[in-house]
Amino acid sequence: MRLAMIGTGYVGLVAGAGFADFGNDVICVDSDELKVARLERGELPIYEPGLDVLVARSHKRGNLRFSSNLAEAVEQAEVVFIAVGTPASSSGAADLSAVMAVADAIGPALGGYTVVVNKSTVPVGTAERVRSRIAAHTRQPFAVVANPEFLKEGDAINDFMKPNRVILGSDDERAREILRQLYAPFTRTNDRLQCMDPASAELAKYANNAMLAVRISFMNELALLAEKLGADIEQVRLALGADPRIGAKFLYAGAGYGGSCFPKDLKALLHTAELQESSLELVAAAERVNERQKQVLGEKIARHFEATGGVAGKAIAVWGLAFKPGTDDLREAPATVLIAALLAAGAKVMAHDPVAGDNARALWGERVTLAPSMYHAAEGADALVLVTEWHELRRPDFVRLRALMRAPVLFDGRNVWDAAEVRSLGFTYHGIGRR
Ligand code: NAD
Repeated sequence: MRLAMIGTGYVGLVAGAGFADFGNDVICVDSDELKVARLERGELPIYEPGLDVLVARSHKRGNLRFSSNLAEAVEQAEVVFIAVGTPASSSGAADLSAVMAVADAIGPALGGYTVVVNKSTVPVGTAERVRSRIAAHTRQPFAVVANPEFLKEGDAINDFMKPNRVILGSDDERAREILRQLYAPFTRTNDRLQCMDPASAELAKYANNAMLAVRISFMNELALLAEKLGADIEQVRLALGADPRIGAKFLYAGAGYGGSCFPKDLKALLHTAELQESSLELVAAAERVNERQKQVLGEKIARHFEATGGVAGKAIAVWGLAFKPGTDDLREAPATVLIAALLAAGAKVMAHDPVAGDNARALWGERVTLAPSMYHAAEGADALVLVTEWHELRRPDFVRLRALMRAPVLFDGRNVWDAAEVRSLGFTYHGIGRR
């Protein structure tokens, strides 16, 4: 099928490359001409494991192209995907300006019956708004389908190629049939297509992220209580996860959730509820708990140095900056909150992240020293904080680390280190909710 993917970010590029891999003819469009030029040269503007190989394969074959000409791409396409950003606006509502700008541009460019698919995360009612914006500019037949995306950064290709479900929110049978065919190779093992009305499809995406956020915040809140009671949240987690009604995933206490989705999607969902004069108490609490949790590491560090003159002038090594392992995305990352607190308190921050270095440089410039390796970051440090649990940071050489650091103090923001082991090597260990 001939596809246009409008917006070539984490979602659009993965989806575009994924569809192209199954032989579709895909043009990925982006308004950022620099991004398009880089992609044309074979450079990837984002880090996502395996994406370089996937993109290169179809690009070389000629069925994955990049362009900043939306009209040209839309005119030739049977299916047009909207995958542009929907950040939070100052009111908390999803900012739909990019989605609506794309809808306005799609209308005049339609060349015949076209399925317009919204992959961006958008509030209930957006499919209808997009439909009327397009209709205002065309007499061509078209349908709008809500098709929220559930991929997660760091494992995006796997999620896209083998989705748990593909949601199609539309009442248009012809459009559903076209998308059923398009997604057939992705859902071959099991029929994972779920057809529903657009409003349910749009709400399902927010419900999914809110549920996951609630689980994380529940564990984070419990972790703080466990700490006070002398219990260990890791033991509690294992006990909880063994119950099949609960399940083991998304039960890790830590430094809070971040990323380009959970924070803004929870805000947008709360805003939607407010407009309906409904309250979502649990979601609001999950959000508040998370804001609080992002401060916890900074507070623990401040408490630790209280007796020795405070954090000012101390050298603090930070391992892991991206909001989670497997991505270079720093949006709303807990590390950004921690580093802001450390810098405000006058600490010297040496940081290392396996892939987020460029984004970190763009964000902090000279204010944070970016080290080329995890061990370089720890040299002369008065404390080391693990914020993002990249594989290589989970089992460091603690003996080497101890020799490099000025003081052997560890803050484990993801509870991945063995407290007894590191204490036996002479470290002072602080986890989240651990004995
Ligand atoms: P992103 O910021 O990485 O990419 C968006 C892209 O759209 C950018 O490259 C931008 O230049 C481009 N763009 C903006 N306005 C445009 C326009 N008018 N015309 C053409 N291109 C335009 O965003 P993302 O992380 O890929 O997210 C996209 C959407 O998917 C959001 O609604 C997000 O909530 C949702 N989503 C994201 C994820 C994720 O893990 N990142 C997962 C599921 C859903």
